[in-house]
Amino acid sequence: MVFPAIRLTDTATSSKKVLTKKKQYRMYVCGITPYDATHLGHAATYLSFDLIHRLLLASGAKVNYVQNITDIDEPLLERANRDGVKWDELAADQIELFRKDMTALQVIPPTSYVGAIESIPLVTQAIDIMSSNKSTYEVDKDLYFSVNHDGKFGSLSHLTQSEMLELFSQRGGDPTLSGKRDPLDCLIWMQQRPNEPGWSSTHGSGRPGWHIECTAIAMEFLKPDSAEEELIDIQGGGSDLIFPHHEMCAAQARAISGKELATHYVHAGMIGLDGEKMSKSKGNLVFVSSLLASGIDPFAIRWALMSDHYKSERMWNNELLDQAAIEVEQLNNVMKSQTVAPTDQLAISIIEFLSDDLDTSSVVKAINKWVNASLNGETGGDYQQISAVLKNLLGFSI
Ligand code: ZN
Repeated sequence: MVFPAIRLTDTATSSKKVLTKKKQYRMYVCGITPYDATHLGHAATYLSFDLIHRLLLASGAKVNYVQNITDIDEPLLERANRDGVKWDELAADQIELFRKDMTALQVIPPTSYVGAIESIPLVTQAIDIMSSNKSTYEVDKDLYFSVNHDGKFGSLSHLTQSEMLELFSQRGGDPTLSGKRDPLDCLIWMQQRPNEPGWSSTHGSGRPGWHIECTAIAMEFLKPDSAEEELIDIQGGGSDLIFPHHEMCAAQARAISGKELATHYVHAGMIGLDGEKMSKSKGNLVFVSSLLASGIDPFAIRWALMSDHYKSERMWNNELLDQAAIEVEQLNNVMKSQTVAPTDQLAISIIEFLSDDLDTSSVVKAINKWVNASLNGETGGDYQQISAVLKNLLGFSI
């Protein structure tokens, strides 16, 4: 099977960019903070990167794929306090639930899942380098990263100053804290607070900021090649991570290494429910485990999410899931019969559509057309061939 060049939309250049053909790719996707696993927004993001992962593997490349787990952070401590449970037990339960959900959805696990706590020695090393090149400073014993260090801050998200300030404030930043050199400077090491856990570091006992955790893990576990211009190939996550999280990670990686973090910054769109934004604050999150418990075929969830483009802001509703369940059942029936319509062109089309910025809605349409042809009695296809394509590229098996 011939695999065309893979093109993916890069947020930094706002363009579909070819992923240079390589034998080995380095992909980092931001993982969960384990306190509300696994809602459909999570599922949509990790399924999108699973499709990229599968496509790269099927093309014959190796992929070093790393995902972090933010097993210590503000939202996790807040949720544990609210619910009167121990924060580390909450995290352990949620991580287990997340892995179960990912297994059910046929998501190929990353090469490494790395926890924030286990990566604290990496974070302190990274902070030491940043301190030595004067990109950090203290505010009341907490350590901050200076976003103006290299003058390139903002080159990923392309937002105005006021947009950056608003998002920074909404997403865990502290723009109004006095003593900061720039309101957008971010916390990288927080001095231990009363009744909160702390770990020792060269900057005293405390815990890491969220952004530096991903930067340090990516740079250690993906083993960047010094001959390459960027540290890794793909930095990914949901579009709500573009700012401040990925902008900060990129700026910190430049402060540590002098290099750009990724050739491609890839972002999956958010999932809404029945015309509304799906969010914790609205209390309308749909959980994968609830769908599975109600007897939904996990592949129907994949199929429903694939019916629209990964970058678009997709709406979830019962009709979408019902339609997906019908189409997946028909696909199952055709595959069980093993007598199928011609498959050569379908196999080529699936690979071509996926290679064109994961055009999954065209994949779904092409498969539906082929399923209908098979149901109408067309024959001559190679069942084994299409079975392998569906399994390897889409995670489908009977
Ligand atoms: Zn991250």
